[in-house]
Amino acid sequence: MRALVCDRPGHVELRELPEPEPGPGEVVVRVEATLTCGTDLKLVRRGHPKVPFPTVLGHEFCGRVARIGAGAGFAAGERVTSAVTGACGECRDCREGRPNLCGTAFDHRVWGTWAEYVRVPARIVNRGLLRVPDGLPPRSAALLDPLASVLRGLARCGDVAGKTALVLGAGPIALLFTILLKRRGAGRVLVAGRNAGRLVAHEAEGAETVASGEALAGRLREFTGGHGADLVIEATGDRAVAEESVALSARGGTVLLFAGLSHDARLAVLAHRIHYDEVTLAGSFHYTPAEAREALGLLARGEIPTEHLVTGESPLEDFDAVFGRIAGGTDMKVAFLP
Ligand SMILES: [Zn+2]
Ligand SMILES: [Zn+2]
Repeated sequence: MRALVCDRPGHVELRELPEPEPGPGEVVVRVEATLTCGTDLKLVRRGHPKVPFPTVLGHEFCGRVARIGAGAGFAAGERVTSAVTGACGECRDCREGRPNLCGTAFDHRVWGTWAEYVRVPARIVNRGLLRVPDGLPPRSAALLDPLASVLRGLARCGDVAGKTALVLGAGPIALLFTILLKRRGAGRVLVAGRNAGRLVAHEAEGAETVASGEALAGRLREFTGGHGADLVIEATGDRAVAEESVALSARGGTVLLFAGLSHDARLAVLAHRIHYDEVTLAGSFHYTPAEAREALGLLARGEIPTEHLVTGESPLEDFDAVFGRIAGGTDMKVAFLP
């Protein structure tokens, strides 16, 4: 089968690999659509401590069950998508309602979907492999993973109805936040980003926008009558922006650190905002199986407009051009059709 392999930082190539075989409880899926994601592009640029090279890239996918291992409860031809990882269901985090933090979940992951076939581990087949309803196009169903992550993020922010929100970053994750904040009745949503083309997509979903940088603080004061935003979503992964985000919150507001920072990164935030102004600093990571099901439900019911999220389609062969379009902000996400 053809697969996009990253064998060292900065180097991707299309290779011919053996097709995966399902072990007991596993299935192999023929990938119909698989999306680009910032995580993959970051991995290409600088590697990842948990992912040794060489690795097949990609983890957001939808396809049809092609081969079935002993005891896996699926039939050939069923269209499926899934959470990326499989929580164990038994550890302390799983028992206490935080399966997204399960320590072994990432050892059982669907990885390498930028290929014709991908193997789904037994844990995910049992708990996380979901049938895609008829009528939901594969490139939309493949949005399960980023959408579920954003549902998790919002679950950490409390009720957003009537609140003013500031979204830092304008990429696909930020756009999912804009869409869901508006759906859930947030008041005004201001999005700060560098790429003018991407900001247009946020405006189409009802947000107001500002170029990130010096203009932001002034625009936010205007926007909130000087109070700061009730909710600040940090979706850039830039340490300096994360530090600044605490200064942009209203008294009593919440700052969500959605984007990950490197493992040893420290933040210097204004401590008085946390104590005297009761600003809550929250984080969110990954998502629970319930949030994955909720994400697929929203997509299946057509409640998430996907046209500004998945903005292009491409065969695997054209990966270089696709990376260029994503890096330049011409596309939000591109669906590879392997
Ligand atoms: Zn992703
Ligand atoms: Zn667990």
